[in-house]
Amino acid sequence: MMQRRHFLQTGTALSAAGLMSGCATVGGGSGPKVVVIGGGYAGATAAKYIRMWSEQKIQVTLVEPNPAFVSCPISNLVIGGSKTLADITTPYDNLVKRHGVQMVKDRVVSIDADKRLVKLAGGTELGYDRLIVSPGVDFMWETLPGMSKAGAKEQVMHAWKAGEQTQTLRKQLEAMRDGGVFAMSIPLAPYRCPPGPYERACQVADYFSKHKPKSKVLILDANEDVTSKGPLFKKAWADRYKGIVEYRGKHNVTDVDVAGKTLKFEFNDDLKADVLNVIPTMRAGDIAVNAGLATANKRWCDVDFLTFESKAARNVHVLGDAIQIAPAMPKSGHMANQHGKTCAAAVVALLTGKEVNPLPIYNNTCYSFVSSEDVVHVASVHRYDADKKTMLTVPGSGGVSSAANELEGRYALAWARNIWADTLA
Ligand SMILES: Cc1cc2nc3c(=O)[nH]c(=O)nc-3n(C[C@H](O)[C@H](O)[C@H](O)COP(=O)(O)OP(=O)(O)OC[C@H]3O[C@@H](n4cnc5c(N)ncnc54)[C@H](O)[C@@H]3O)c2cc1C
Repeated sequence: MMQRRHFLQTGTALSAAGLMSGCATVGGGSGPKVVVIGGGYAGATAAKYIRMWSEQKIQVTLVEPNPAFVSCPISNLVIGGSKTLADITTPYDNLVKRHGVQMVKDRVVSIDADKRLVKLAGGTELGYDRLIVSPGVDFMWETLPGMSKAGAKEQVMHAWKAGEQTQTLRKQLEAMRDGGVFAMSIPLAPYRCPPGPYERACQVADYFSKHKPKSKVLILDANEDVTSKGPLFKKAWADRYKGIVEYRGKHNVTDVDVAGKTLKFEFNDDLKADVLNVIPTMRAGDIAVNAGLATANKRWCDVDFLTFESKAARNVHVLGDAIQIAPAMPKSGHMANQHGKTCAAAVVALLTGKEVNPLPIYNNTCYSFVSSEDVVHVASVHRYDADKKTMLTVPGSGGVSSAANELEGRYALAWARNIWADTLA
């Protein structure tokens, strides 16, 4: 009841301020103000939990350009054809209706950490007491000159941000002749979702084995070897997709000839394919880099793991894939969701004069579909180490599947439904 009454108040303040209609004014309401940049796994979770754990006393504005949340986890199944984009899309409605988060459909173009202001593409300025920057990743296109030519990005997909590219890649595979070659390149780690490319190879191979059995999946990996769940993926390729999947390590792509559908490598011969899927080298999202928050090699953002406060700017927190990870911490949706909760608790404590939790602990489970039903997982538990001031894996925790099976497939889909609800419902 209290939550509903508060939402009505927030809604009224918002309408009066004109934010719901996109006018260039800042939302009203009393209490401290938090602005969140990016409604992905990290940002949406932080926005929701700050509202819940502050008992709706902290005002939260979430800026996100996309009309709905589209999940990267499970998006490889859309490429394989066993799920649709609708299956992985969730509206933002509940964040607004249930939790009173103020959603602004726009993009943040600059951060003024001294004045505590962010500027949006539409011209609006939003003031904050605490800012949460969770823009995910952007790509280092400068490492692939051919991809900057006119039309290149419309023809060669990365499909590493779920949405339109996911669907286009699926259509390219559907249009490919039987006997064609699908070539996917993987950048050097660290990149978003270590097992994601190998899962994608399995999904495309599953589709080929059922519909285009003369076709091939070529995995061209800049890393020396498979970076996650190696023995499990290699077993799946040998047992299930023999003659379809071929893995080549130490293949670092340096350019793409888009018109000639050809990949160029640092040390290996050029390679032509029917469908190219180039996953470029990554760094923190543009807004974090442009705001000077990417302190680690100008790629990733160093944070204090107790609060996720940036090491470069006070009152600014960075979450999710954009951060410089702790040892053995994957860039995953599960991890981003846990960053969101840890940061939400810290921000509520900091804004209400309470003590920040000195011992955050979180876990990660990464499921990978090796067919449309069978799944493998890797899990880990991470605990703050006060001496080293970082997160370390808890000895003996976590583990990895012994074999792929259908029961894990059901767990994986339940995991996805649960995390979508935890982030957005
Ligand atoms: C194919 C694939 C499969 C995956 N599978 C799994 C899996 O099974 N399990 C798992 O845990 N993880 C998985 N991941 C990884 C997971 O998707 C990411 O780790 C996760 O999305 C990171 O969350 P994030 O909030 O940091 O970024 P995102 O979820 O990408 O959210 C960032 C948001 O910020 C917004 N944004 C960016 N810039 C601005 C700006 N300037 N202003 C406003 N908004 C902005 C974007 O629109 C976006 O909505 C997978 C990834 C891929 C690509």
